[in-house]
Amino acid sequence: MSLSVDIEPVPAPRLRRALTACRTGLSGVARLALDIVLPTLCVACREPVHGEGVCAACWAKLSFIAPPFCERLGIPFVYDPGPGILSMEAIADPPAYQRARAAVRFDEVARTLVHGLKYHDRTDLAPTLGRWIARAGAELLADADLVVPVPLHWRRGWARRYNQSGALATVISRQSGVRAAGDVLKRVRPTLQQAGLTRTERARNVQGAFQVASERRAEVGGRRIIVVDDVLTTGATLDACARALLRAGASNVDVLVFARVVDGARNPI
Ligand SMILES: [Zn+2]
Repeated sequence: MSLSVDIEPVPAPRLRRALTACRTGLSGVARLALDIVLPTLCVACREPVHGEGVCAACWAKLSFIAPPFCERLGIPFVYDPGPGILSMEAIADPPAYQRARAAVRFDEVARTLVHGLKYHDRTDLAPTLGRWIARAGAELLADADLVVPVPLHWRRGWARRYNQSGALATVISRQSGVRAAGDVLKRVRPTLQQAGLTRTERARNVQGAFQVASERRAEVGGRRIIVVDDVLTTGATLDACARALLRAGASNVDVLVFARVVDGARNPI
């Protein structure tokens, strides 16, 4: 039984992206020449930027999540209650996954980045976002055997060309050395878009929507798995994925996302 890395390939990049990718392989002089012709752009606002990633203005607008936060769900706390204290959500309505971490709060710049990756074919965003996620999830990745993306969301009447969660999982795998498996988890029935649904509707919408195929169960059995997605809103999709992996014999499931919705900072209980 081999554990292959079989994430969906990212589509061929357009000229700028191709040239940007080549840039790293060039000599200093050639790179300088290319920088003059083709300055690197901020991945959020597309203004020229020195180096890679986001410009200083966009960086300042991103809310990176740092401790103190709930050890279980990664929800930021307003003050540090000391080790081991959980959020109300983690106690009142614990998900099937064990721990969740996110790089940033879902706000205006995060939304721009997610929408770019998801709807506008901005595959060039995946390396930056993936690096941020890997950094936020370093503790979880240290314990993990396998990284699994949430299978492509069903979009009625619109076939997207690639899975943004798969692109992020590939980068996280490369950063951490944890193996990625793109097609272990399958979406076995179509679901509605989660946007616009209530919390209860979201949970019902994705209930039983994911499955590990019987021939892939050996890859999952006894493994510590991290499920990767772009955004965590109520966690319903990730909870359904975790349930499917645990049913297939995974020993533990954690969750890593780029951005999570936080309705104001929490007081720990
Ligand atoms: Zn910017």
